[in-house]
Amino acid sequence: MKTFLMPVHRALPAYVPGTHEESGNVIRLNTNESPYPPSPEVLGAIASESSKLNFYNDPDCTVLIEALSAHLGVGTANILAGNGSDQILQLAFLAFADGDNPVTLPDVTYSYYDLFAALYGIPLRRIKLEPDFSMNPAAWQSAEGMLVFPNPNAPTGLALQRSEIEGMLQAHPDQVVLVDEAYVDFGAETAVPLIRQYPNLLVVRTFSKSGSLAGIRLGYAVGSESLIADLAKVRNAVDLYGVNRLAQAAGTAACRHWTYYEENCRRIVDARRETTEGLRALGFTVTDSLGNFVFVRPARISASDLQKRLMDRGILVRHFKTERTNDWLRITIGTMDEMKKLLDACREILNGQEECP
Ligand code: PMP
Repeated sequence: MKTFLMPVHRALPAYVPGTHEESGNVIRLNTNESPYPPSPEVLGAIASESSKLNFYNDPDCTVLIEALSAHLGVGTANILAGNGSDQILQLAFLAFADGDNPVTLPDVTYSYYDLFAALYGIPLRRIKLEPDFSMNPAAWQSAEGMLVFPNPNAPTGLALQRSEIEGMLQAHPDQVVLVDEAYVDFGAETAVPLIRQYPNLLVVRTFSKSGSLAGIRLGYAVGSESLIADLAKVRNAVDLYGVNRLAQAAGTAACRHWTYYEENCRRIVDARRETTEGLRALGFTVTDSLGNFVFVRPARISASDLQKRLMDRGILVRHFKTERTNDWLRITIGTMDEMKKLLDACREILNGQEECP
């Protein structure tokens, strides 16, 4: 069939998201969502905002940005909201890198970065993580162009301390350092306070994980006024009205009533500890994850077999078929009850393995 797609885009790789399955009897531990619904205040804010959908949304997200400013303790000019943090990340690639200015990533990380680079013709450099998947800041000494990494990293769950990130900012004063904090609320240290001293730091965050709002698409960037103004300039040229009314209302209400989400994060951290201990007791290798997921190498069964067997029992988990991650699974932390079902299923599957070698 004839294609009208420009040649430059024909080789674009596809991002493969986790299987989308909403039937009630499936346990979704494959897309790092929150198992908890939005708070009553957020649901109320969405309901009352919906009667105004005939009017355009505020492109500057004024009320949301004020709520975020109070929530984070930074100025309103230090924040830009976007249609999911994926949009903010994409804008950062567009604004701060190009064919002559590369992006440097960890070799094991969030795979959507590769697509943004491919879309804009940005060369990628990759720095190898240590054999245990930890990130060694010293290995980033030679990093070129914009430095990009999640903290905690995905899918490994391992995090750098704020002091280590500060060292990287000092070592690269003339390069943008983008810290993707999608999972920071589950135990890692945020780099946000560093934006005051380091004008090259861009922190990217989302309401999709700890904020229970994956389906509304809301993320934001925090950085120096100059970085945020540059990012806004690009955003305004691409998607001025990107953050819809419902997302703005939901994010504002979530910031104003954050204790509900703190409590959910605590429950997820507790369930993560139980899951880690339970899987280690089965002989699995489990990284010390600070995300709302664990990264595990199963014992006595391959990762892909275990994924299939769990799927047969209605439990979805994620397998990334790359050289370094092929033996591993990423398992989202759900409710304690869901994690007990996961542990029981793993135990039964391993017992079955013994009976039929
Ligand atoms: N960064 C990382 C590391 C992620 O895992 C994800 C979620 N898949 C995102 C960013 C994007 O999140 P969202 O677009 O839902 O804000």
